[in-house]
Amino acid sequence: MQDTFTHKGMRKKLVETLKSKGVTNEEVLNAINKIPRHLFMDSSFIDHAYVDKAFPIAADQTISQPYTVARQSELLEVKKGDKVLEIGTGSGYQCAVLLEMGMNVYSIERQNELFKKTKLFLPKLGYRPKKLIFGDGYKGLKEEAPFDGIVVTAAAPFVPKPLMAQLKVGGRLVIPVGDKSQIMTVFTRTSAKEFKKEEFGEFRFVPLLEDKN
Ligand code: SAH
Repeated sequence: MQDTFTHKGMRKKLVETLKSKGVTNEEVLNAINKIPRHLFMDSSFIDHAYVDKAFPIAADQTISQPYTVARQSELLEVKKGDKVLEIGTGSGYQCAVLLEMGMNVYSIERQNELFKKTKLFLPKLGYRPKKLIFGDGYKGLKEEAPFDGIVVTAAAPFVPKPLMAQLKVGGRLVIPVGDKSQIMTVFTRTSAKEFKKEEFGEFRFVPLLEDKN
């Protein structure tokens, strides 16, 4: 596994691109500047690792576009030491960004092949999530709730109730909602029973599927 000066240079350019698209959170930009995204991708796509695009990974899934990862990370509005749940571990890239920002990360993946691959891979780069779970993200992770932030990295046809229930008061759920295209939606829990809803434009994700596989 190699991370060369060329890769570092390409990452700097990617960070500039993300800034020009409106990403401002310094911790997010630092994390993207530091993480060797090319190592999270299949070798056939490595040359494109620092283009701001999504690419295929194993099991018909994708590594999210860097802009999407950056926006979701900043929309969480979490701080160092906060407890964050990710739905859709995939390549582990989003997970690595959150770890680099100092979060305590729990992440769920429903594809066993990807789950096993990423579980072995992340520690090789020094990234240690609190827990990686093979399971169904629609259910969240009740035994570790409540969370300061929950980020869903696949297209949700509706907002799963357990995810709302597993937020701390003050916590935020960042979730792309919709079928063909999705609206990035943030629910902030303002009290035990109340949520504030905000929308942040259109995105495209692979679908959030029921049950594990
Ligand atoms: N965060 C990932 C993005 C992967 S794409 C990354 O940075 O690479 C979305 C992922 O969500 C896929 O790996 C898919 O298998 C997973 N997924 C889809 N439905 C799910 C569910 N119900 N529970 C958990 N993971 C799910």
